[in-house]
Amino acid sequence: MIYELQGTNIDWEYKALRSRRHSLTSAEGVRWPRGLALGGSGTIGMMKYERGNRRNYEVWKQLGNKGWGWKDVAPYFKKSIRRSTTGFLNVDNYEARDPINGLMIAAAEEVGFEHLNNLNAAQNLGIGWTKFMVENGTRCSPAKAFLNPVGHRNNLHVIKHAFATSISFMKDDGPTAQGVNFILRNKHNLRAIARREIVLSAGAVNTPKLLLLSGIGRMADLAPLNIIQRAELSVGYNLQDHVAIPLFYKFRKSSKRTVNLNLEKVLNLFNFSLKNRTQQLTNHHMGGLTLNINTLNASESFPDAQVTYQLFKKGGFTSSTVLRKIGYDLQLVRSVHQAELEADVVMAMVSILEPRSRGTIKIVAADPYRDPAIKTAYFSDYDDLKTMIRAIRIHQQMLTTNAFLNNGAQLHRVNIPACAFILHDSDEYWECYIRHLSTSMYHPAGTAKMGPDDEPDAVVDERLRVRNVRNLRIVDASIMPEIVSAGLMAPTIMIGEKGADMLKEDNLE
Ligand SMILES: Cc1cc2nc3c(=O)[nH]c(=O)nc-3n(C[C@H](O)[C@H](O)[C@H](O)COP(=O)(O)OP(=O)(O)OC[C@H]3O[C@@H](n4cnc5c(N)ncnc54)[C@H](O)[C@@H]3O)c2cc1C
Repeated sequence: MIYELQGTNIDWEYKALRSRRHSLTSAEGVRWPRGLALGGSGTIGMMKYERGNRRNYEVWKQLGNKGWGWKDVAPYFKKSIRRSTTGFLNVDNYEARDPINGLMIAAAEEVGFEHLNNLNAAQNLGIGWTKFMVENGTRCSPAKAFLNPVGHRNNLHVIKHAFATSISFMKDDGPTAQGVNFILRNKHNLRAIARREIVLSAGAVNTPKLLLLSGIGRMADLAPLNIIQRAELSVGYNLQDHVAIPLFYKFRKSSKRTVNLNLEKVLNLFNFSLKNRTQQLTNHHMGGLTLNINTLNASESFPDAQVTYQLFKKGGFTSSTVLRKIGYDLQLVRSVHQAELEADVVMAMVSILEPRSRGTIKIVAADPYRDPAIKTAYFSDYDDLKTMIRAIRIHQQMLTTNAFLNNGAQLHRVNIPACAFILHDSDEYWECYIRHLSTSMYHPAGTAKMGPDDEPDAVVDERLRVRNVRNLRIVDASIMPEIVSAGLMAPTIMIGEKGADMLKEDNLE
């Protein structure tokens, strides 16, 4: 579903600014879908449930954020899961039916990776299946999990089709947040006044946008737009994302028949609705298979790169849909489709998990309807490029395994004219490849960074309160000081659980 939902009316459809350093094959700029619905990006996402590793949170604590170490956050991950007494979220294993998965696992084991039972365990270097947010075989978005069961409560009022445009402030003294200005159904300008405080959870792209529109940000960013400054804070800086590149492997012997994926979808729907509502309604084929790599030290417990997989079955037409949704140009789309006509194609999406590059999110006008300027700055730190090349080289080792050789596996050399005259498989070639094919795993974070008093770029404190502004808290992926080494859904739900406790503690009378 994740590609079907992109570009629909529940997607903000953002695109990052173009750059000469990366993503050159995405002619319009890298696409950054974001969920425009209850449940946010979790409603249009792939539903993978990954916590990141304990070192991620230990780093948050070492940076001075008290209460955010692994031992502090672990109970909040558990709290949201249904098997505990309080949780609402259903997290389940995912059944993948295609034999190609066994082949990839065998190849990874031959290379020396451990076959992991649980990717959320302390040791998460190796290959295994991620868990998914699913319920009775269907997607379980954060809205379905957390809002549906409490919809009847009289202290909850949800206004749909409300477009928040700015935070309003008290007239009297300094910056005390008072309410949220919003436009209802594109018609009515309204304001919701808060009795106690405002919690902003517009996500890592729109939270900084709303703060900047409200005058919370650096003077250098606000003054040119004639926005009155309320607080000098580094809003929109520290943007991080998991940048990724696809490798395409052709498997000439793995498919005995060509596949009609549309027919397969109809059969899944038939089985689901008429036979057994407990099985998955859809089949990712390989969607949950994940390989975590440490590119510098194989005996480490924590990864700095990750590979996820997608299968384009021989004779199917899925590659074109997927690659066009990612935003690649026609030449690349055609090149992969050609391979898909000849063989099963596995797209191995290699991403780096601890990027050093930092981008920005800025607004271009004091107009809430204008999209923000997203500068991803991928590979502005050259170490990120080196990590990506190391990850590619480690993954390439699979080509020499029996599992690959016995199935006629080959790397499909995609058509990138600008790289055509560079010696194949040299570092220079991979740099060219990366600079052309780099794209996003859709994990923006860090744009309203949490940090201690002596951190000049901190936007919120460790209780998620916006610095130098009263009655305003941020609870979403933008507070992450450093991006975690996983999808951001589960970590953001954890931030939500922890933020909810802070709200209760700080408002007890
Ligand atoms: C296509 C896709 C697939 C993904 N798959 C996975 C996955 O499988 N696993 C995983 O862990 N992570 C995944 N992610 C990432 C994950 O969904 C997000 O990182 C996570 O939801 C946290 O996002 P966020 O805090 O930025 O806010 P979001 O989840 O984007 O939520 C922000 C909310 O605020 C609303 N909003 C924003 N601006 C306004 C405004 N002005 N007025 C009113 N409302 C507003 C938005 O509509 C949205 O509902 C995926 C993301 C995408 C886009």
